Amino acid sequence: MNVLLIYAHPEPHSLNGALKNFSIQHLLEAGHQVKISDLYAMQWKATLDAADSLDFSPEKPFNPSLDSMQAYESGRQSPDIAGEQAKLLWADAVILQFPLWWFSMPAILKGWVDRVYAYGFAYGVGEHSDSRWGDRYGEGTLAGKRAMLVVTAGGWDSHYSPRGINGSIEDVLFPIQHGVLYYPGFDVLPPFVVYRTSRVDDDRYAAICTGLGERLDNLFHTAPIQFRSQNGGDYDIPALTLRTGIAPGVTGFRAHIAE
Ligand code: FAD
Repeated sequence: MNVLLIYAHPEPHSLNGALKNFSIQHLLEAGHQVKISDLYAMQWKATLDAADSLDFSPEKPFNPSLDSMQAYESGRQSPDIAGEQAKLLWADAVILQFPLWWFSMPAILKGWVDRVYAYGFAYGVGEHSDSRWGDRYGEGTLAGKRAMLVVTAGGWDSHYSPRGINGSIEDVLFPIQHGVLYYPGFDVLPPFVVYRTSRVDDDRYAAICTGLGERLDNLFHTAPIQFRSQNGGDYDIPALTLRTGIAPGVTGFRAHIAE
C-alpha cells in the first residue's frame, strides 16, 4: 500500500527524527511504498498568501478562498501545493507526525494544511444547496484513505486523561482529527501519542518503537474513530446540529463520535 508521512520537526537528531526514521524503515520492510514530506527539510513555505496562485497580481485584492479555488481549478497553483496534493491522492494512508506545540501542530504543519487544502480539493467539494452541505465529514476528495497522528508531548499521560488539567487528548486533538482529517474524507485512526518526552531512555525508546511498529502493522486494519458522518442521517440540514434523539444530553466534541 502507499503511505505518505507528513513530518514536522526542525531537528533530524530529535526523538521525532528517530521515530520518523523508524517508521519509514518499518513500513518499507513490510512491503509498503513510502513517500515523505519532511517540511523543515523542504523549507516548506508556511504562510498562505497571494503568491500561491501563479496568476497572482499585486493590483488585485487577495481573496484566500476564491483565489485558491481559481488556481486549483485552472491548474495555476504554486507547484509545491500541487505536488503535495498529488502525494495525498497517491496515498492509501497518511501519517501526520509532529511534537505537540502549544496544544496543536507546529506552525509549519498548519501552514501545510492551509496551503495544500485548496478550495475545491479539501473544502467546497460536492453539492451545496438547502438540502446538502457538500461532501465533507466522512465524504470528500480524501474519502477511502486512512490517516493517523503520531504525536509527542512533554506532558504526562495523566495530564491528558479525561479529568487531566490539559483536557483529554481526544479533546486536544479533536480540531486536527475531526476538522483537518475527517472533514476532507479521511478515516481517522486513534492517535499514537508519546507522553512525557523528557523521560525517554533507551529502554523506553525501544518500548515506544515496539508500540509504534504494532500500530504501523495494523495501519490498514485498526478500526477508525467513529466520527458521525455529516450526510449519514445524524444531523439536521442545513442547521447541521445533531438530530433530537441522537446522543441526547451529550454536548461538545464527544457528541460527534458514535457510541
Ligand atoms: P527530543 O527533545 O529530541 O527528545 C526527548 C527525549 O527523547 C530526550 O530525553 C532524548 O534524549 C530522548 N531521545 C531522543 N532520541 C532518542 C533516541 N533515538 N533513542 C532514545 N532516546 C532518544 N508539550 C505538551 O505536552 N503540550 C504543549 O502544548 C507543548 N507545547 C510546546 C511548545 C513548544 C514551542 C515547545 C518547544 C515544546 C512544547 N511542548 C509541549 C513539549 C514538546 O511537545 C516536547 O518537547 C516534544 O514533544 C519532544 O519531542 P522531540 O522530538 O523534540 O524530543
